[in-house]
Amino acid sequence: MATPATTTAPIAPQPVSVALWLAGQGIHVHPLLPGRKIPPRGCDRCWRGPKEQPNPSYIEHDAQACPCLTAGRYCHGVLAATVDRSVIERWWHAMPGAGVGVATGKSGLLIVDVDRHAGDQPPADKILPGLQLPDDVNPATLHDGLDTLALLCEIRGVMPLTATDSTITVQTPSGGLQLWYRVDPAAPWTPSAGKLGWQLDVRAGRSYGIAPGTATPKGTYTALGTCRTVSDLPEWLAEDLLRTGHQRQVTTPTVSANWAPPKLAGGRGYVATALRGELEKVAGALNGQRSEALNSAAYYLGQFVGAGLLDRGAVHAAITEAAAAAGVDPGERKAQDTIHRGLEAGMRRPRVIGDRA
Ligand SMILES: [Zn+2]
Ligand SMILES: [Zn+2]
Repeated sequence: MATPATTTAPIAPQPVSVALWLAGQGIHVHPLLPGRKIPPRGCDRCWRGPKEQPNPSYIEHDAQACPCLTAGRYCHGVLAATVDRSVIERWWHAMPGAGVGVATGKSGLLIVDVDRHAGDQPPADKILPGLQLPDDVNPATLHDGLDTLALLCEIRGVMPLTATDSTITVQTPSGGLQLWYRVDPAAPWTPSAGKLGWQLDVRAGRSYGIAPGTATPKGTYTALGTCRTVSDLPEWLAEDLLRTGHQRQVTTPTVSANWAPPKLAGGRGYVATALRGELEKVAGALNGQRSEALNSAAYYLGQFVGAGLLDRGAVHAAITEAAAAAGVDPGERKAQDTIHRGLEAGMRRPRVIGDRA
């Protein structure tokens, strides 16, 4: 099958093109200080300053509700992450060398972090906590997180995840790997102290990964293989995450009383349930979250349209109507563009039912 040009990352990518390309896939991005892995400091009112020398201009406030976020400023790091192209262009125009942070929770992403550093081996029972290693496995032959992950895959009877080239896989300057997986943004995973395995960590919730093209003094993050799209988290891996104490958070949005789901969202089937859930999220989105809610619903539902399970026009109309319940003017150009782009991006990646964790 020929790969559509739109799913291929640019060669020698500029951070801004990487950021825009990711946003086109519904992935929320935020800048990182040039050459560093941390977000730049926010405006004077939002930046606390170091503990030993607090910033006197800082004003105590709830970062999640900070007006800077709605104003499109990059205060509060990962909380500012966005898919808004004009905001992204503005940020990287001001800071062309800034790296690209990828917000996990907001983007419906979970990143498996595979470390590859030499280190003392843990006792056999800490390699894959809670799992009995097969008799023929000698723990002394495991060198790093890559081996731990390969062993987990072997126990689960699947190909090593790092060998399948089935999702975006980023190599860090220290040789580690970050495997990106799509999860339901309505049920984000929360990180937990419990590790998936030795040198295997998970980034989820209010955390971020680092996009390819981001440069640090130790080297540049690079995308491996040819896959430039994010796959759904394999179901077996979701089970292993739950088993190792990672949790999924389910939040129910409050929906305006004068909005009712359209007819096509009736019934109890998988598609109808997904459609109803997405529309409820849009209808219940608060000010400042609407553009993201629109984008993520359009992307997610676009995947059903791409699979021929929903009609594009009907979905577009239903999202517009749900957005109106949340206070978005149905004729607003920006909202319509967001829905249009989200649908397009989702349709490029049709959803296979049963493929989702
Ligand atoms: Zn600010
Ligand atoms: Zn603030």
